[in-house]
Amino acid sequence: MSTNDDLVLEPDEDVVADTGVPKTVWRILVVDDDQEVHIATDFALQHVEIFGRRLELTHSNSRAEAQSLLLKDRDFAVILLDVVMETDDAGLQAVKFIRDQLGMAMVRIILRTGQPGYAPELTVFNSYDINDYRTKSELTRTRLITAISAALRSYDQIATIAENKRSLELIIQDSTDLVQVREVDRFAALVLEKIGRLLRCEPHAIFCAAHDFESEEGLTGDLSVIGASGRLAHLAYRKLVGVDDEHVSLSVADCLAERGHRFGMRSAVLYVGNGENEAAIFLLTEQPLGDQERQLLRVFATNIAASLGSMQLFEQLNFTAYHDALTGLRNRNRFILDLNEIAVCEDPDIVVALIDLEHFSDLNDGLGQDTGNALLIAVAQRLEARLGSQCLLARIGADVFGLIGPEKAVNPGNIFQIFSEPFSVLEHSMPASVVLGLCRMLEEKPSGIILLKRANIALNRAKRDISASHAYFLPEMEDSTRWRLEIIHRLREDFAQHALSVWYQPQIDMATGRLVSIEALLRWPRDGGGFIQPPEVFVPLAEYSGLIVEIGRWVLDRACADFYELSELPGAPQRVAVNVSMAQFRQSGMAQDVARTMGRHGINIGELELEITESIAMHEPRIVLGTLLAIKTTGARIAVDDFGTGFSSLTHLRQLPIDALKIDKSFIGEIANGRGGMFAEMIVALGAKLGVSVVAEGVETSEQAGFLRGLGCPLAQGFLYARPMPLEEIKSWIMARNQDR
Ligand code: C2E
Ligand code: MG
Ligand code: MG
Repeated sequence: MSTNDDLVLEPDEDVVADTGVPKTVWRILVVDDDQEVHIATDFALQHVEIFGRRLELTHSNSRAEAQSLLLKDRDFAVILLDVVMETDDAGLQAVKFIRDQLGMAMVRIILRTGQPGYAPELTVFNSYDINDYRTKSELTRTRLITAISAALRSYDQIATIAENKRSLELIIQDSTDLVQVREVDRFAALVLEKIGRLLRCEPHAIFCAAHDFESEEGLTGDLSVIGASGRLAHLAYRKLVGVDDEHVSLSVADCLAERGHRFGMRSAVLYVGNGENEAAIFLLTEQPLGDQERQLLRVFATNIAASLGSMQLFEQLNFTAYHDALTGLRNRNRFILDLNEIAVCEDPDIVVALIDLEHFSDLNDGLGQDTGNALLIAVAQRLEARLGSQCLLARIGADVFGLIGPEKAVNPGNIFQIFSEPFSVLEHSMPASVVLGLCRMLEEKPSGIILLKRANIALNRAKRDISASHAYFLPEMEDSTRWRLEIIHRLREDFAQHALSVWYQPQIDMATGRLVSIEALLRWPRDGGGFIQPPEVFVPLAEYSGLIVEIGRWVLDRACADFYELSELPGAPQRVAVNVSMAQFRQSGMAQDVARTMGRHGINIGELELEITESIAMHEPRIVLGTLLAIKTTGARIAVDDFGTGFSSLTHLRQLPIDALKIDKSFIGEIANGRGGMFAEMIVALGAKLGVSVVAEGVETSEQAGFLRGLGCPLAQGFLYARPMPLEEIKSWIMARNQDR
């Protein structure tokens, strides 16, 4: 081992703080009027490396020379300063100059003197932050190096703090340009990173602050983890009360309750507070923190708190957490808080509206995001100008604005009016069409998030509706989805339990009054009478869920079996009609199914009629035509149900192998007091032209019957003749009717 080697201090861990500019040397200023001392110091410190850096010495021979040098160059970490030079207290005067005049607070000062009697007063020592005071004879080489090492360590730590403070100030300056909540995250992340630097290890820490997070219960002002790192990273964005590590949540709670730091064996909690705003930083430590580290953390915490206060960072965070960066309007979070407040007031005059810009994504894709953004800003500005004084305005989604205000301002007429003129967007004039979802304050005090959900339901309803561009929320909309799923579930169960039944309604020959056919109509009876749901409700749900395929097959089977049973009666119908859904048509093998069923029940050609709705007949002609032709080969007839409500093309209709048209009951309903009946007349004529039968559906009055008979309509079905009936009842009906004749 060389003589020098044992004097080289190993850097303990990564002891050198990165103070921004990478440094390779420690600069040390030696001020002494004794040339010998300069030479000795040079010699003692040559080749010495402290914390990984060499020392670079600069020499001054007097107080005056040192001061004029420092005026030009202040970048020194340590000053070795002789006390007695030009005067007995020249060194002390130099210290005052350095601290007071030059404002150099970080540089460490080691006073040296030849005579012990020249030691400065204790007060000077403290107030001028002098690190060390040694007599020259005391300062052997080793001791000099030790003293300089201690001073450098201290300098480094102070520099780190100063650097932390500076970067926090930078963070705050930056925060004005940054966007939304990400800013909070970044702030927290940087704070933790700084702590890591300060302690020179990877920080396992969380930053907790009162930060409003949206949750199902609404918004809470609870303490939340806004930043997390290292082994605690998994706690990020959690509410503190929900953190399963009790030690963490209790320590933080204690720290805030006591408004003080807590240092434990393996953890520490820093209190960050400036009166109004409070936060806490919890960190795991390998061992209890030393005095110096505690001190650093205290200073650091004070720095953050000071920054929070002086720069109003929290307000800043608050603002960005609650405002939309693009338009400056309130954001979704703020809107929900506003809704919470509104709900409490129970003011029936208040309306919540969501305004959705139509085709916004097309615009964004087509003309670029800048144009999209410019449009959003223009919309926000116009809303602000027209409604700002009476309403709360928010941007709650990419292309969705929220409004809360009195009905006289927040109503479809007024809002559509606002959007009736185009917007000027980057020198273009651009129209914007909107869809509105509105929600009134109904009854109980719903939470903000529920109000928002309701307005959203109304908005979605309005978007789906092609005939209107706005919708008000109605309570039944809220659970329609759940309700539909429940119905489907129950229908499936009841069908499996054979709880469905098929009823029959007669079709009458208008000229002779004889029973010609019966239509099979599905029923979902309730125990003890009545029905669970009418077919108008549950058939579309069965279609939607695909259940109609199975149910339809069963109806066909049932109808054929019942028809066979009825056919033995005198005056029995000539045929039975069964309704068929599109989903059944899409099934391959539909025709074979029909043929097999007919065969099984001994049904002859022309005795089974399948009713398809006009929309099916017209919608997918190719599928339908193929299936219909296949069905025709089985000998079944085809009728087009609800005719007149769809958009039939006559050319297409002529191509279909149909046997009958059923005039929709809405056209029969128009025949009253000698008025209307035009459509019925046309359909009867059309049937004659096409050479197919026509059935008038929903005939309720003798006046309607008379009118239809006058037109030459062959068949009629309706309450005037008979209501749909269960099998036993229609048996009796047929028998009774036969006896009457
Ligand atoms: P649809 O096929 O047009 O059936 C005629 C509907 O008119 C029946 O309603 C019938 O009860 C009703 N009706 C009959 N006469 C009158 C009247 O004089 N006045 C009035 N106002 N209504 C009358 P229902 O039974 O409620 O069935 C409704 C619809 O459900 C049917 O309309 C049909 O589209 C569908 N549906 C019924 N059963 C089945 C089935 O087994 N399968 C399929 N796919 N759909 C069915
Ligand atoms: Mg029908
Ligand atoms: Mg019909």
